[in-house]
Order: sequence, then C-alpha cells, then structure tokens
Amino acid sequence: MTLLVPSRRALLGGLAAAPFLLTASARAAVPFADFPFPLGVAAGDASTDGFVLWTRLAPRPLEPHGGMPMASVPVDWEVASDEKFKQIVQHGTETAWPELAHSVHVELAGLLPDRPYWYRFKCAGDTSIAGRVQTLPLAGAAVDTVRFAAVGCQHFEEGWYTAYRDVAAQPLDFVFHYGDYIYEGHDKRPHDLAGRPVPAVRLYSGREPYSLDDYRLRYADTKLDADLQAAHASTGWYCTYDDHEVQNNWASIWDQDGSPPEIFLYRRRAALQAWYEHMPVRRTTRPTADGVVDFRRRVDYGQLARFHYPNTRLYRSDQPCGDNFKPDCTERHAAGHDMLDAAQWRWLEDGFQTSRQRWNLVPQQVMVAIPDRRDAGASTPIYNMDSWGGYPAAQAHLLDIFADHKPGNIVVVTGDEHRNYANDLLRGDRVVASEFVSTSITSQGDGAVESDAAAMLAHNPFIKWINDKRGYVLCEVTAEACTGHYRTVEAVTVRDRPVTTAASWAVAAGTPGLVRA
Ligand code: FE
Ligand code: CA
Repeated sequence: MTLLVPSRRALLGGLAAAPFLLTASARAAVPFADFPFPLGVAAGDASTDGFVLWTRLAPRPLEPHGGMPMASVPVDWEVASDEKFKQIVQHGTETAWPELAHSVHVELAGLLPDRPYWYRFKCAGDTSIAGRVQTLPLAGAAVDTVRFAAVGCQHFEEGWYTAYRDVAAQPLDFVFHYGDYIYEGHDKRPHDLAGRPVPAVRLYSGREPYSLDDYRLRYADTKLDADLQAAHASTGWYCTYDDHEVQNNWASIWDQDGSPPEIFLYRRRAALQAWYEHMPVRRTTRPTADGVVDFRRRVDYGQLARFHYPNTRLYRSDQPCGDNFKPDCTERHAAGHDMLDAAQWRWLEDGFQTSRQRWNLVPQQVMVAIPDRRDAGASTPIYNMDSWGGYPAAQAHLLDIFADHKPGNIVVVTGDEHRNYANDLLRGDRVVASEFVSTSITSQGDGAVESDAAAMLAHNPFIKWINDKRGYVLCEVTAEACTGHYRTVEAVTVRDRPVTTAASWAVAAGTPGLVRA
C-alpha cells in the first residue's frame, strides 16, 4: 500500500494551535497552526464486524497537551472498502477529550467479516494518513492461513525502527505487540548483552517519567517515527504491555525500588492511562476508577486458530529471590506465589476447554520455557525471576492446561528476552507445546558479538536455537503447520540495513516439537 504523509504546512505566522469555537460549528473552526496528526493512525482489536480506530490530535506533539487547546474537539473519521476512499461505508464524529490527551478511539461494528478496510481522520481541514485493517473471519469459517508479526521491545534510543519498515511491507493479518513500547529508563546508558555500552542513535525528550504528561511525552517521541507509523497503518494490532511501559520489572502493585504500593500505584495509574491513550484498544480497556488497565482477550480465526492473550504483569506475585537472574530460593516455590490471578486461570482454562480450533496460540509477554542460565563451568543453576522462571508452579499449571488439551497444536509467542529463541515446552519428558521468542525491535542495540548461547544450549536441550540479532518473528499458521520466520536486521544503530530471515522453525500439526523449516 502507499502511505501518503501530508507535507507539513507552512507555519501560520508562528500562531499557537488556533482556538476552537466549541459550538456546533466547531468543525468549521480555524485550522491548527500545525498538522494535527503527526503521530499517525492505528487500528486494532478486530472483531468479525469491526475494529478500533485510533489517532491523537497533537499539532505540537512534544509540548504539554500536544499543543492542543484545553477543550474537547470533534474529529471526523471515514471507513472505506477501497484504498482510494471511493466507497465510504461508514463515517462519523468522535470527541477527542483533553482528559485523554485528545486521543480518539472509534469502536466500529456492522462491517463485513474477513475483509480489508481503509480508514482516515479529518479535523479542521486536515486529513490524517490512511490506514488499513481487516475484520476477522466468521466463527465457523474455513481459514487457510493466518500471518502475523510478533513485535516489541523498541527502545527508542538504542536503534532505528528498520524492522518496522519490513513489517509494514509484509502482507499480514495482524501484529501482536508483546510490550516495552516505551522504556522509562533514561539515566543508565544502554548496554548490550555483554555489558558494553551501546551508542544512542537518538534520545527521549524528557527525564524518567512519573507523571501522566511525562509518559505521554515518551509515546509522542516514539510515535513520531515514520517506520513505526507505517507498520501501524499497514494492518491491525493486538497491543499488550509488559514492564517498561511503567517501570522495569514492576509486578502488580510493586515497583523494583521497594516503594510502598500505595505510592507506586500513582505512577502505575499515570503510566497505564498513557498506554491506553496511545493504543488502538477497546473502551473496555479504558482505565477504571482505581486506575486498572487490562488487555486480556481471546480472538478466533475461524476454525483454524484461537489466540489467548493473558496479562502476565498486572496480577502476578512479586518476583522471588531478589528478582533478575538469580539462584533458586524457597520464596520461588511458596504457596500462592503465582503469575496469573484465579480469574485469569479460569478464563484460560475455559478458553482451552471450549476451543475447537486446530491451533491454539498464546501470545504473551515473558518466556515460558525455564532455562538454566548459569555460565559454562558454573555449578549453581540461575533463573530469570521476572519470566515464568520465577514462577515454576505457575509454569507447571500452564503446561498442564496444554497437556490436557486435545488435539495439542499449541504455540506460545513471546518477547522480553531481547534475543531470539526457538523452544520446546516439556511437561516431564513430553513436549506439550513450542515457543517462538521474538528478539527486540531495537532494545540493547545491534546484538552481542560474543554470546553465552553455547552454555545456554548445552544446559537446556529444549532450546533448539538462539540468535542475538534485532528484528521480529513472522508467524504463519496453516492447517499443516505453525511456522516462525525469524526476521533479523543486520544492524539497528545504522539506518537502512537489510532485513533477512535468519532461520525458520515449524511445528507440524499433530506432531509436537520444533523442526527446521
Ligand atoms: Fe524489553
Ligand atoms: Ca520486558
């Protein structure tokens, strides 16, 4: 598809955003001094008859409130059945509220299943770029193929979003974002897996975020990127968050600094509201009165595949054993120490029990496989306490759900590690599922030259492959197989480097276990 980015208008004599007349004639008001859609558009959370459309008015995106007047503003939207907007099938007006950073979430219904639509926004004489998004096939439909990209961990300072340009060029049904859309850290310089400093290719505007406006600024910096905008405009996304949207390794009501929970919750509330404001997610995701923002959802692609998106961050117990990469301890096995809450476990079990789809996929945030990460020659096993490795009973519970499900054909899709993995997931000796772990779009720079991969592979036979480059996993689901193509960028600290497939791994339907594709 062609992306037309409107040329920035000549500044109107240095005027700030022009005042709006907040009357019925507001739509004919004076135009903004600057283009009001510099953050692009997005769509997501598709259903069989609709989806969510997103934009945010921000004529001066790096200024407080995006340079908007302190008032609500009506925004027109159009949905067409063709790329050139000759057949407008729905249109309307949505209010952009200053309380929500003048973000716009349009929730559509009444469209046809399993077909693409194009959308755009208009405000005060300006028109946004156009985006494309697809509705889901009907429940009983025979679906040949589902193709999606698993993306995330996109530290703005640590690389160029070249991988997103590659995502935008792929024919995809959707994009799954596993979190770390922004990073809150700023004071520590980036480092690679070997601990060496990585040069920043660009800098976030503000200091470490605590307030709502601080977090909004991080999203504004990020969303000004043209490659990210192209990836959003190319297809619908299912967005989740992980830790860095709030703070490194937060868990439920606990931050990593040991702040009192009742104090940390002010920060969490600000961070999760900003996440909602910038993601194409449904109104049911809007912050509750006590600041909870959840994204848990189940999505079916006809008879072919069911996707379960749990939230592994919001309800978990605090990380055990002092967090990070540590040896085992009793806290790790304590009664009630869990990754999900009881309601979410019931929801997941129910989702598997009622699934009649050929494939079940679990796109989620942190690695389900539990490798021993000790160095070569070391005698004590080391685990990542922020992943399912910190929650072994929860991991066993999850694998039991997988083991009980007939037919198997289960694939977990994960991020967070800043490294590509292809893993089998074993309950005892039996492979019950496999896991594609996607690297990072940019986080931690180009990828380590040396690597502890040899020790990891030696200590953990269920890990079939490791790769340290940046990029994403392109997943392809058919009746016969579920395949992960590991797309990697030669370097992200240099612009425009080539993106290639480093390896492809597949699970054949009915035959658990990864094979090279
Ligand atoms: Fe990350
Ligand atoms: Ca993370």
